Amino acid sequence: MSFESRRAKLIKPSPAITISTAARAMKADGQPVIDLSIGEPDFSTPNNVIEAAYAAMKRGETRYTAPDGTPALKDAVIEKFRRENGLSYERANITCGNGAKQILFNALMATIEPGDEVICPAPYWISYTDMTLLVGGRPKIVECAQKDGFKLTPAALEAAITAKTRWLFLNSPSNPSGVTYTREELAALGEVLARHPRVLIMSDEIYEQIYYADTPFCSFASACPDLTDRTVIANGVAKAYAMTGWRIGYAAAPEALAKVMSKIQSQTTSNPSSISQAAAIEALTGPQDFVETARATYRNRRDLIVSGLRAIDGVDVVEPSGAFYAYPGLASFIGRRSPDGTVMEDDTALTRYILDAAMVAGVQGAAFGLSTHIRLSYAASTDDLKTALERLTGALGALK
Ligand code: PMP
Repeated sequence: MSFESRRAKLIKPSPAITISTAARAMKADGQPVIDLSIGEPDFSTPNNVIEAAYAAMKRGETRYTAPDGTPALKDAVIEKFRRENGLSYERANITCGNGAKQILFNALMATIEPGDEVICPAPYWISYTDMTLLVGGRPKIVECAQKDGFKLTPAALEAAITAKTRWLFLNSPSNPSGVTYTREELAALGEVLARHPRVLIMSDEIYEQIYYADTPFCSFASACPDLTDRTVIANGVAKAYAMTGWRIGYAAAPEALAKVMSKIQSQTTSNPSSISQAAAIEALTGPQDFVETARATYRNRRDLIVSGLRAIDGVDVVEPSGAFYAYPGLASFIGRRSPDGTVMEDDTALTRYILDAAMVAGVQGAAFGLSTHIRLSYAASTDDLKTALERLTGALGALK
């Protein structure tokens, strides 16, 4: 008997899981695998946040809350948007969920009719396409070449929009490429979108605080204020405050959409954990020094991994200006053979070879809709990154 509905069959097990499962098995076997396949900070949650969670429990904040967040959390989110993005929202615009992931899902669930298209510039975070499929939409993948810095151009956006387009998903800083959009680039995309009033914009800004470009981070809503009535700004505490396990994401959305998103959430997960909500308030409104320290640390690691990768013959890397991923191109290794004679047919084969030969786990570009690349997370210690680079140099050099 099959337990899988037609809807469930639309999505495949994540290809990234295959590599991380193999990496974990090798580790359990005692092999010194360096796992750069993971998408989360390697820091602990700051102590003031943990204390705030404990205090909330002691105060009895251990009950159901409003489905999309307590008024106090919504106020903290409003304050964050004001302080860091110069944006002003009302409580009715704010919706909080179990991670930014649930926010994105709620937004799609709220709006997608069968066959509606969601533009996903590739390389994209894999959940965008899978969530779209789950709610009955169609991902419209637009490849953004390395020569364009992995960014969506206004011309490519214009060409991708059809009468069926419902959403454009943007992600700056990007997982997996690490690239960021400038205010001018966002405004140029906004000019195209202004001509297509049915298209909603999802700007996933979860990596906002992990940002090293010369110009300040720019939220889509700040670059394109005229589109506010159809823009959702998604963010969360997971990456900025090393709180991936606490599961708090939030968004600013048009009031009517925020209401539908809340309605959907009320019948799925009720509300995000009351304790995590209290912790998120402290993260957003308490001392921000953790964010600065983490950013400086990621930046040093970025410099280390980029210079290490550039020193390897045949590796082509765009310097990431945000998030904690490098997305080097490996096209020149395609077709080469490993010492045991295996032909490197694609980036999936290369990623597997790198795991076996270098004991470094990454995720193949194919998982993010743009080959021939590998995503390497540098949310890892400097020592591990140095060792990983040495091993990668050896393994890639052995391909003939
Ligand atoms: N967007 C992107 C681009 C991400 O990489 C992630 C986490 N991997 C999320 C959203 C989801 O974050 P959260 O943990 O808040 O659900």
